[in-house]
Amino acid sequence: MTTTVESTTRSEAAITEAEIDAGRRAHELDRTHVFHSWQAQGPFSPMTVLRAEGSRVWDGEGRELLDFSSQLVNTNIGHQHPAVVAAIQEQAGKLCTIAPQHVNDARSEAARLITELTPDGLDHVFFTNGGADANEHAIRMARLHTGRHKVLSAYRSYHGGTQLAVNVTGDPRRFPNDYSAEGVVHFMPAYPYRSYFGSETEEQETERALRHLEDMILLEGPDRIAALVLETVPGTAGIYAPPPGYLAGVRELTRKHGIVYIADEVMAGFGRTGAWFAVDHWDVAPDLITFAKGVNSGYVPLGGVAISRPIYETFVDRTYPGGLTYSGHPLACAAAVATITAMREEGMVENAARLGTDVIGPRLREIAERHQSVGDVRGLGCFWAVELVKDRTTREPLAPYGGSSKAMAELMKALLAGGVLAFANFNRIHVVPPLNTPDEDVIRGLEVLDEAL
Ligand code: PLP
Repeated sequence: MTTTVESTTRSEAAITEAEIDAGRRAHELDRTHVFHSWQAQGPFSPMTVLRAEGSRVWDGEGRELLDFSSQLVNTNIGHQHPAVVAAIQEQAGKLCTIAPQHVNDARSEAARLITELTPDGLDHVFFTNGGADANEHAIRMARLHTGRHKVLSAYRSYHGGTQLAVNVTGDPRRFPNDYSAEGVVHFMPAYPYRSYFGSETEEQETERALRHLEDMILLEGPDRIAALVLETVPGTAGIYAPPPGYLAGVRELTRKHGIVYIADEVMAGFGRTGAWFAVDHWDVAPDLITFAKGVNSGYVPLGGVAISRPIYETFVDRTYPGGLTYSGHPLACAAAVATITAMREEGMVENAARLGTDVIGPRLREIAERHQSVGDVRGLGCFWAVELVKDRTTREPLAPYGGSSKAMAELMKALLAGGVLAFANFNRIHVVPPLNTPDEDVIRGLEVLDEAL
């Protein structure tokens, strides 16, 4: 497919001195009163954003930057898409909020559109405010559906910042919150670049990782395991796609042992990988899919769980014990309807696939050849990681797992100086621009990365 997406409108007007002054005042107030996520508050000096449009943002000094991060990998359609902004404004004029027990046209339509995109059989949606609570509810549904308690999840994963979601998370972000992880058991993921199984080929990795998973299931007691939660393509934990056959194997094992398979597509879903859902690449239908972020590009907070029929049927004559005041919020759902519609009309998912295959992948591989510090480049669609190492042979990471390093900090500084706002995690730079970023901008961003390296 060779669809190209026209760049959305650009902010032609220069940033004014008044905007810059207002931004400085906002920064002062922020440091006085705002408590930020995942930060030591004292040394933190966040970047001010004065405006954003398409794949560009303007910082507190009025400097234009290319947004290679899509914020937290959520602005899949870029910033300020006019159709989505208009839909939110229109909905706000009609009905800003309504409790979840009432019917609302934006919510009904969003659910219809989402279930058109999910694999066959997942035809109901429970709406949440974001990704962590989607995972919390998916696990609750699985526990009630199976009458079992344990939850299996992979090391090197991220499932959100609320209590159970952070316990299920398999990277160091869970350590300070690990105290009530009762029933949560982690397994080794299939991760060919740093195989835990000593695999030398992807086939070996699939076979060994699945054998390990089945051993874990048997050792933990299949009749005690409610759910297996797995990011289809883990995001902040490394953007490592599963080797061929792995997800089909996970599907088979979970089915065999009566375990609910929850695919966390909070980051990978809604076009990010060049398919509506990442499971589409491997033709796998989980029992539950959790989503958020790209469903409406984060313009208004929204997440949810797409539910398969057998799990839905558990709650036909039995109350589902859970809910949220803002479940299926009209403004968020109107934004989702407009986002999905714009993505379809403008061919954004196809464009993401094309960008990955024709632009990002080949150029990152060229960059890898030029720089000894690049250990691995991997990804699909607009979802790529550059894994940096001190030594290609030993694969010693450029920053420790769960930590940072001076080299990584300097690289980020160099990217910013070159006009690129990127996302880094531990020893990785993530190349995750909006799906409709014009080719010339993607190429320019990659040139800046090449120079910065
Ligand atoms: N799951 C995955 C895979 C994520 O990447 C994230 C957030 O980055 C979450 C869950 C949590 O989503 P939220 O921050 O909306 O709660």
